[in-house]
Amino acid sequence: LERIEALPKVELHAHLSGSVSQEFLAARSPEFRPVDVVGPRSLGKCFEYFRAVSRVIVDLPGLAASTRHVVSAFAAEECVYLELRTTPKRLGAATEVEYVETVRRVAAEFELDVKLLLSLDRGTVGSLEEALARVKRLADLATAFPDFVVGIDVCGDPRVKTLVPYVLPALEHLSPRLPLTIHTGEIRDDEEVRAILNADIDLRRLGHACFLPEDIMIDERRNFTIELCPTSNLVAMNLADLTDHHFTDVRHLPVRLSVNTDDRGLFNCSLSSELHDLAVAFDLSWDDLVDLQRQAIRAAFHPDTDSLLAAFESKLAALDDD
Ligand code: 5GP
Repeated sequence: LERIEALPKVELHAHLSGSVSQEFLAARSPEFRPVDVVGPRSLGKCFEYFRAVSRVIVDLPGLAASTRHVVSAFAAEECVYLELRTTPKRLGAATEVEYVETVRRVAAEFELDVKLLLSLDRGTVGSLEEALARVKRLADLATAFPDFVVGIDVCGDPRVKTLVPYVLPALEHLSPRLPLTIHTGEIRDDEEVRAILNADIDLRRLGHACFLPEDIMIDERRNFTIELCPTSNLVAMNLADLTDHHFTDVRHLPVRLSVNTDDRGLFNCSLSSELHDLAVAFDLSWDDLVDLQRQAIRAAFHPDTDSLLAAFESKLAALDDD
């Protein structure tokens, strides 16, 4: 684990609220009660956690402190590129623009390269009109922060079935056509996965993809990436052991793979521990782990992945010299 902690790493799938630790929340609010997400069928408990976070982070100073807490945790474990994601919110009297600006300002305090994905929570739209309005709002916010916001994420409780009827058609109107990553296949829903793959959108990555249709055909020219989040996937799939993780299946698909934390606060994990646990479960070598970081860099929405790769290689070379 110590060696993996020193490896330069890339995180592409981290939700801001879920990355805030239970200790941070408890210190900030005496009303916060720890949430135990280990155990069977706990997807519902995860969403309970996000609601609990939203009761503690209620203003811009709280957002700034929680963002600093999250980014510093990644910086402390040699993460060289962090693509954070969050749902812009109105906190008290503060606007969504102020929300994004606060995250941007705090992220800029770090040497670590941080970019942002704006999340669209599928649970917040109940009609095509609402979805179109939300997509337009996110596009406007992205346009207001061209050096910081690099794409859009679709997240939210997968049991809420609004993606096929509302969110996907609305995303086909996204202008500018920003790169997209969509959470899907967290629960079995082959119709949704197929609809996402066939939609007229700039789909680059799939989040989780625990359950894919058995006859899935992925065109390798599309250069897809699957964002794996081992601990989170165990919880969603109700598995006891990482050796049963769908890494076994997706490693044979014509896709890139990236390994991520998802919600490091909620799951009490780190990027290093996720890589370590996957390496132990699947007997991955150091070179395999390095290769996973290179795949993640190629999959990043960062506007200059070549420089990102060069920075990664020089840090890796410095590590090898030690
Ligand atoms: P925030 O957007 O407030 O920074 O982060 C919390 C949100 O991230 C949650 O409301 C939820 O929509 C989304 N999220 C976090 N983890 C997961 C996950 O594992 N699956 C899905 N589908 N959404 C998630």
